[in-house]
Amino acid sequence: MLSALGFAQPIVLETSTILDGKGGVLKNQQIVIEGARIQAVTRGKSTATYDLRGLTVMPGWIDTHIHLTWHFDSHHKLANQSEPPQASALYAAENAWLTLQGGFTTVQSVGAPMDADVRDRIAEGSLPGPRILTSVRQITDKSGTPDEIRALVRKTKAEGADVIKLFATSGLGAGGAQTMSDEQIQAACGEAKAVGLRAVVHAIGSDGAKAAVLAGCTSIEHGDFLDDATLALMAERGTYFDPNFLVLHNYLDNRASFNFPETTFTALEKALGPTADVLRRARAHGVKVVFGTDAVASAHGRNAEEFIYRVRDGHDVPMEALRSATSLAAESLGLGDRIGTVAAGFDADLVATEGNPLEDITAVRRVVFVMKGGKVYKNVR
Ligand SMILES: [Zn+2]
Repeated sequence: MLSALGFAQPIVLETSTILDGKGGVLKNQQIVIEGARIQAVTRGKSTATYDLRGLTVMPGWIDTHIHLTWHFDSHHKLANQSEPPQASALYAAENAWLTLQGGFTTVQSVGAPMDADVRDRIAEGSLPGPRILTSVRQITDKSGTPDEIRALVRKTKAEGADVIKLFATSGLGAGGAQTMSDEQIQAACGEAKAVGLRAVVHAIGSDGAKAAVLAGCTSIEHGDFLDDATLALMAERGTYFDPNFLVLHNYLDNRASFNFPETTFTALEKALGPTADVLRRARAHGVKVVFGTDAVASAHGRNAEEFIYRVRDGHDVPMEALRSATSLAAESLGLGDRIGTVAAGFDADLVATEGNPLEDITAVRRVVFVMKGGKVYKNVR
């Protein structure tokens, strides 16, 4: 804000409890924000612009796996390709707004061409939403020879992608077996690295996942049926793991709207137990677990439900689940020195909940304050 003399005044947040995103708990601090950045976290005595005492303040949450454009139509059915483009655009903007209101200040959408347009409007400040990173498209076994895949990676980068997304295996409903050859996977992740992009890999089982880890890909998405040998390899290589619970529940809770074959819903149901199990085993192996929800239609804005599933079903420690969604997610996106931590020099991306998620994980449903880049987008206390 501007003072009477026109100078930008710092924003001061008075807090009683901060979870700093790196496992620390800070008591009775002021967060001083200048412009888009945190200037200091200190026991100061400045006049507070916002009094957040009694709330739990955290870094803005980060969802490393969403699909921004997915939505239901006015009949509560999954929208399809025949939808007019203006409808798709408006729904994507709505999903971005819902996501931000739900406490998520950064998302990785993996991905559709429209993501990049929404990302750019938000970055300009003309549309409210989280910071978006996108893969623009998805690379599969149908994307061609290794040479053709390398060319497609370069084209995707030229089109403004922040990350490369590939499918090393089929989906859960189709069995999750390896689809891309080892050579195709090596081409996609190798070329991504060569042009300075990360590569995130859809892999349901160990075949496909192992090839991706060995090819130097950045992360394994889903991984519901990874075996211990693959998890050990991921820990050794520093490959990030992004298991997703919300997506399974969201499909199962909205069967009529998604209208998949019954066999698909059966496969999703059967994956619930293994997904909880693989999270526990990944923690035991010391794998770097990040926080993705695979949010599709009707999950946007409810991304925080993933915390509850991870803690309740996967027996994740609340602090570890929060670290997955803050400093560790930021590191996995190559933004570890900018977001995901409440400390001087970091972007002023902050969320506050009524209640403390360390004591009651359902507090993540009670987001009452959201700031992104020093700007308040929600304050409903
Ligand atoms: Zn996905």
